[in-house]
Amino acid sequence: MQTFDVAIIGGGIAGLSLAYFLSPHRSVIVLERETALGYHSTGRSAAEFVLRYNAPEVCALAAIAKDFFDSPPEGFSDISLLKQRGGVMIATAEKASRLEEVFRSELAFTPELEPLNEEELLARVPILKPGYAAAAFYDPNFWDIEVESLLQGYVKGARRNSAEIRERHGVLSASHDGQAWIIETSASPVRAKTVVNAAGGWVDTTAEIFDVKPLGIVPHRRTAITVDLPEGVDVSDMPEINEIDEDFYMKPDAGRLLACPADATPCEPGDVQPEELDIAWAAHYVEEATTIPVRRVAKSWAGMRSFSPDRLPVIGFGPDRPDFFWLAGQGGYGILTSPALGALAASLLTGGPQPEGFKAQALNPEKFSPLRSKT
Ligand SMILES: Cc1cc2nc3c(=O)[nH]c(=O)nc-3n(C[C@H](O)[C@H](O)[C@H](O)COP(=O)(O)OP(=O)(O)OC[C@H]3O[C@@H](n4cnc5c(N)ncnc54)[C@H](O)[C@@H]3O)c2cc1C
Repeated sequence: MQTFDVAIIGGGIAGLSLAYFLSPHRSVIVLERETALGYHSTGRSAAEFVLRYNAPEVCALAAIAKDFFDSPPEGFSDISLLKQRGGVMIATAEKASRLEEVFRSELAFTPELEPLNEEELLARVPILKPGYAAAAFYDPNFWDIEVESLLQGYVKGARRNSAEIRERHGVLSASHDGQAWIIETSASPVRAKTVVNAAGGWVDTTAEIFDVKPLGIVPHRRTAITVDLPEGVDVSDMPEINEIDEDFYMKPDAGRLLACPADATPCEPGDVQPEELDIAWAAHYVEEATTIPVRRVAKSWAGMRSFSPDRLPVIGFGPDRPDFFWLAGQGGYGILTSPALGALAASLLTGGPQPEGFKAQALNPEKFSPLRSKT
């Protein structure tokens, strides 16, 4: 049986970004249960990159990640990983004062925010229903992420460094021979000195396989739909529409309109499917806020966003064992933060220097330590 320095469980964006950053320094194997990489949360995201509107730590991670997205290493991707989209934040009359408050506080971070009157708003987003929004502003700092190119960039780079990436290798059980983990999978067994738990919605159940105490990371189901646009309506260059309290958001998606009702329902880990009620809410918001009639939902899907108790990612060795590492709890920002978190995880696993950007952002990696609740 071949022995690896590190076995990463999970072939989503988390596990693969780590494989990319770690493989120059350690022998690495990625174990993925499904037949396709990125089949779960990673393949079901809204592909949005945003610099603001999350916890301060996540905004700092986004700022660090942005440098990688803008200038990935030579050969990482043939196309740009980000496409600028911009976003409008909107509020109905009852929430107009709240939007104004957010506008004022965000100006400190984003001086280029533009307040919009109704005429300016409709010029930017012609599908909005006149009279729906009583207050709005424009933020240029929203981008679409080329998720498949990002994922393939990580995969190709890791393989170039001789990392093994094995689909159809679901981790079933584990034991320890005194020197390394023996990991039984649905295919062949694997031996590894250190295990990384990057199993997305399954991180807590995966920890139990290794006799490691779960950390209370709970998957939450989130739904998205796409709807067809009437003949002659082209939204491809339209900014993303965000309701001020994130009741919903909408954005163009491959010639259609994507709508998300921002549901966050705690669920068991699995191949989650959209519930009728959440699909109905998404369609309702499209009809309420825009002039697009929902004659047919072209596509609907759901995926898991996994949150730790304080809703920050969990990166580091756990309290129980020095050879079991967590890369978990990326919530609704696992794609956009992956260059920052993958690099951080690699530096913690190798004892290397803090990745670039953390100092500049004054971001202490301890914030993400699995031990943080104990300190
Ligand atoms: C509707 C929706 C919209 C989103 N929008 C955005 C967005 O716009 N921007 C953004 O940055 N993020 C977004 N997210 C969040 C983002 O998708 C996640 O944070 C990210 O994909 C998590 O990646 P992951 O690798 O941890 O999980 P996953 O992609 O789920 O990967 C985990 C993998 O582990 C594997 N696995 C589990 N257990 C085992 C086992 N025992 N053995 C082997 N393999 C195992 C699974 O099969 C899975 O492939 C969105 C999520 C959803 C659902």
